[in-house]
Amino acid sequence: MMSDCLFCKIIAGEIPSAKVYEDDAVYAFRDIAPMAPVHVLVVPKQHIASADGITPENSAYVARIFEVIPKIAAAEGLTNGYRVITNCGEDACQSVKHLHFHILGGKKLPDQMA
Ligand code: AMP
Repeated sequence: MMSDCLFCKIIAGEIPSAKVYEDDAVYAFRDIAPMAPVHVLVVPKQHIASADGITPENSAYVARIFEVIPKIAAAEGLTNGYRVITNCGEDACQSVKHLHFHILGGKKLPDQMA
């Protein structure tokens, strides 16, 4: 755990969150400022700063996250599709420096990515 990391504090229960899923490696919770009817953040319990910090040593967390994402999507009723996004670094406007994947859905999303 990184003591100054918002998402590490959420995973530890030091900051409240609306949890939608948890196992030994993965935590998922509702985004506090949703940009779609369903907006869930999926994070590894191990602190990884961003997609730029994925290595052979920690990439199993990413695999676990992508095994969990379809389960969350199904539980949230996203039968017509959804978008998975990770923002990495300054140009992508990453605001929390703990790797996280946004699940967005529940409506037709804009077709442009940037
Ligand atoms: P990003 O801009 O990709 O780094 O995404 C960070 C996301 O975290 C944003 O969508 C924020 O709305 C969300 N966020 C920030 N603080 C919290 C919080 N305490 N609980 C839930 N989501 C949060």
